[in-house]
Amino acid sequence: MDFNDTPEEAVFRQAVRSFISEELPERFKGMGNPLIVGGDMRARFEQMKEWRKKLADRGWIAPAWPEEYGGAGLSTMQQFIMNEEMAESRAPQVGGMGVSMIGPTLIIHGEDEQKEEHLARILSGEVVWCQGFSEPESGSDLASLQMKAVRDGDDFVINGQKIWTSGAQYAHWMFLLARTDPDAPKHKGISYFMVDMKSPGVTVKPLVNMAGSAMFNEVFFDNVRVPAKNLVGEENRGWYIGTTTLDFERSSIGSAVGMRMQVENLIKFAIEHRSDGQSTLENNPNLRYELSERLMETQVAKMLSYRVVSMQAKGLVPNYEASMTKLFSSELSQRIARTGVRMAGLYGQLTVDSEWAPSRGRFAASYVQTIGSTIAGGTSEIQRGIIATRGLGLPKN
Ligand SMILES: Cc1cc2nc3c(=O)[nH]c(=O)nc-3n(C[C@H](O)[C@H](O)[C@H](O)COP(=O)(O)OP(=O)(O)OC[C@H]3O[C@@H](n4cnc5c(N)ncnc54)[C@H](O)[C@@H]3O)c2cc1C
Repeated sequence: MDFNDTPEEAVFRQAVRSFISEELPERFKGMGNPLIVGGDMRARFEQMKEWRKKLADRGWIAPAWPEEYGGAGLSTMQQFIMNEEMAESRAPQVGGMGVSMIGPTLIIHGEDEQKEEHLARILSGEVVWCQGFSEPESGSDLASLQMKAVRDGDDFVINGQKIWTSGAQYAHWMFLLARTDPDAPKHKGISYFMVDMKSPGVTVKPLVNMAGSAMFNEVFFDNVRVPAKNLVGEENRGWYIGTTTLDFERSSIGSAVGMRMQVENLIKFAIEHRSDGQSTLENNPNLRYELSERLMETQVAKMLSYRVVSMQAKGLVPNYEASMTKLFSSELSQRIARTGVRMAGLYGQLTVDSEWAPSRGRFAASYVQTIGSTIAGGTSEIQRGIIATRGLGLPKN
């Protein structure tokens, strides 16, 4: 297999590199996705405006969208190259769920008026979206969801609760699934709505995670009136539209590149950091094996991403292959975090608040931050189930 770029891809890669080196504001260089490093997220959203504008001027906020909707109409390989280069230079991601989830869903299933109302505002960054799928009793078995939407004249009236809604406290709009026919089989009585978060009856309660940041929320709906024009697709066909939204999986190349950089940083720390006259590496003879293993694993994660993107480039839809990538990458992120904490000994548990914390408390921070990665977007058990049945052909138990 030839992993080199074609001449056209090499030209495109160079264009992306030049753009990043000329346009990425200095303060972002080396920062990575600001949404996962904690701190004041609202302030970070504000700081992102300048970078967002530069990307928007270039048409690269939604590179995958067709040009007629304001995207760049890039091929799968070009998007992949762009994601890879952005990750290599740690450029912060913009666009969020508006660009990656609801926008592409509207392009496929939305009415013209819906596209007109929402797509441009997603691209301009004026409107931030959140995803209201999970409920307290419905996560892995999402189709069991209980939120109700009842038709009343020109509106639907929504009652119920969503949970784990990332970014709901900053979002202007939510796309959600609610039950419109309680008597139909569970996958068939669900509809897909867009809800203005300022509607009367919507209450957002942030949940603080163990990393100390309020990343996700509970969202309560008490007789919330949603105009019928905000129904996406047909009533009771929302499950199938929801699966389109969930299909807009990335190849995870960003996470593979980011993890390789983390391991490289650990290696640098192990060589440079000294105590009792010896480097961390000299103090821990087995560390070299553990670091070698982590580095190899990041290469495996990269290859799994390549497999997903090469399927997409051929017009195929990755299935258990995407599950393999998600499973391996999310569990690897936890192994890397564990290696970091172990390497720094007891100091590795200190957070950024302590002046003794090595590497500004990054080891402890990434340890707690990566816990959610094997739950969000489908748990490891669910991914293993998909690989076992669809990949290996084993019977369901
Ligand atoms: C950081 C983070 C961000 C999130 N952001 C969002 C968001 O923005 N919007 C949103 O809608 N949701 C979001 N979620 C929710 C996420 O989608 C759910 O947590 C996930 O689908 C699991 O559902 P659950 O929490 O209800 O766990 P459950 O489904 O109740 O699972 C509990 C345990 O049982 C296991 N289990 C369940 N079913 C099976 C099975 N069939 N076979 C084997 N084991 C099984 C699971 O693996 C898990 O270990 C987020 C979650 C996290 C952690």
